[in-house]
Amino acid sequence: MSDKSFNAFQMAQEQFDGVAKKLDLDQATRELLRNPLREFHFSIPVRMDDGSIKVFQGFRVQHNDARGPAKGGIRFHPQETIDTVKALATWMTWKCAVVDIPLGGGKGGVICDPHQLSEREQEGICRGWIRQLAYNIGPVQDVPAPDVMTNAQHMLWMMDEYETIHHGRYPGMITGKPVGMGGSLGRTEATGYGVIFTLREALRELGIDIQKTTASFQGYGNVAQYAVRLYQEYGGKAVCVSCWDQNDQKSYTFVRKSGINCDELLSITDRFGGIDKAKARQLGYEVMDGNAWIEQDVDILVPAALENQITKDTVTKISDKVKVIAEGANGPTTPEADVIIQEKGIFVIPDFLANAGGVTCSYFEQVQCNMNYFWSKEEALSKLDAKMTDAYLKVSAMARSRNVYMRDAAYMIAIQRVADACKIRGWV
Ligand code: GLU
Repeated sequence: MSDKSFNAFQMAQEQFDGVAKKLDLDQATRELLRNPLREFHFSIPVRMDDGSIKVFQGFRVQHNDARGPAKGGIRFHPQETIDTVKALATWMTWKCAVVDIPLGGGKGGVICDPHQLSEREQEGICRGWIRQLAYNIGPVQDVPAPDVMTNAQHMLWMMDEYETIHHGRYPGMITGKPVGMGGSLGRTEATGYGVIFTLREALRELGIDIQKTTASFQGYGNVAQYAVRLYQEYGGKAVCVSCWDQNDQKSYTFVRKSGINCDELLSITDRFGGIDKAKARQLGYEVMDGNAWIEQDVDILVPAALENQITKDTVTKISDKVKVIAEGANGPTTPEADVIIQEKGIFVIPDFLANAGGVTCSYFEQVQCNMNYFWSKEEALSKLDAKMTDAYLKVSAMARSRNVYMRDAAYMIAIQRVADACKIRGWV
């Protein structure tokens, strides 16, 4: 987001155009799917703790809802842009389609920095965001969820505002809510676990014993924390995570060759995923530059932070030892870097497949809210494993049968499903 020359939406369109050609989609379908159906821009005035009023810029993009209500998170980020939100909404459409859940794609954002805002001010932003969209979102229209720097509490404030406006209880209008207030057990773990479910299947197909592998993770937020945990439970050794340092306004990588310890690291991590450097050094971690995660001599790389991380400049730093990249973040790899990754023969589990666990569990949350009957954590996570494994196997079978790159295979399945839904509805 900070790189001015990078435009995530152009990248999403470029990826789409390539696959649309391979699928031989007609002109109208291409035009429809390469742009969002609807886009909302609005201002959110909030009374700050010092009594002043600050006006925040908010967005919601509904890329496509042919297969079901739009679905996707809301990001709070100081460098948020409408084009990033458009790209992420587009990727949500493909994500829901590739795991075959009856939802479309949406994404929202607010330009703000939660590090600088009190809880009360953040509540004001959440409620203001809903007031602007109260009649354009909802359980049968568009269902938001958490994303970068938003969490279960934010979702609950949003639900409360929506229910106040609509005079009723609508727990299916938003997901990622706290457990006990309409949330699903397993939702917090879901994205990170989903990445590792697909990684487990990829390694099995490649004939690599997970217990003999090492991995480097970028990030230590919700996705990386749980991905590292499950990967280590399966016997892999995670040697590296990274985080954004709010005070220094730069990121750092934390390396410990003997393996990192999740609980230990968590105890020195703030609520935004920032790790205390001095304490980490005391625990035996080497603290390096933020980009060092990509240079590690490991078998597996898991970018689980933001978009635009594996670029034509950073891709050359990837060690020859790396065999698999599992993309936990949305859009971490640029199309230029993709070409080099293919040349290097690295196996990629593309973002909208690898990180679809979050939205899949969000779908389970909706199902449970509609039934008003909630599952155990084991039930939610085993259903998640089944869904992710099935989606992975379909994509890898497509990659083999059509002899295409994994990202293209995932796109071919997802885009075809959405194109078929648009066609059968008579839209194109
Ligand atoms: N924000 C998550 C994503 O990018 C989850 C979206 C959802 O649960 O709707 O996939």
